[in-house]
Amino acid sequence: MPKVIQYRNKCIGCGICYELQPRLWRMSRKDGKANLVGGVNHKGVYILSSKTYQPFSDAVEQSCPVNAIKIA
Ligand code: SF4
Repeated sequence: MPKVIQYRNKCIGCGICYELQPRLWRMSRKDGKANLVGGVNHKGVYILSSKTYQPFSDAVEQSCPVNAIKIA
C-alpha cells in the first residue's frame, strides 16, 4: 500500500504541498512547517498510509523544493 512520507526536518514552510492538497497538509502556526494530516511520527519522519487519501498526486512529491516528501 503506498504511503506518504514527510521528512519534516527538511521542510522550509513554502506551503506548496498545502496549496496542492489542502486536505492532506496543514501549515503549523508554531514553526511554520507543513504537518501531514494523520501522519504518524517515527522519530521526526511522518508516515501516512494512503488508504484514506488515494490517489496521491505525484505533483506534491515533485513540487517540494527540498525533497521532503516521498510517495513510497
Ligand atoms: S512543499 Fe515541502 S518544503 Fe514546502 S511546505 Fe510542503 S513539505 Fe515543506
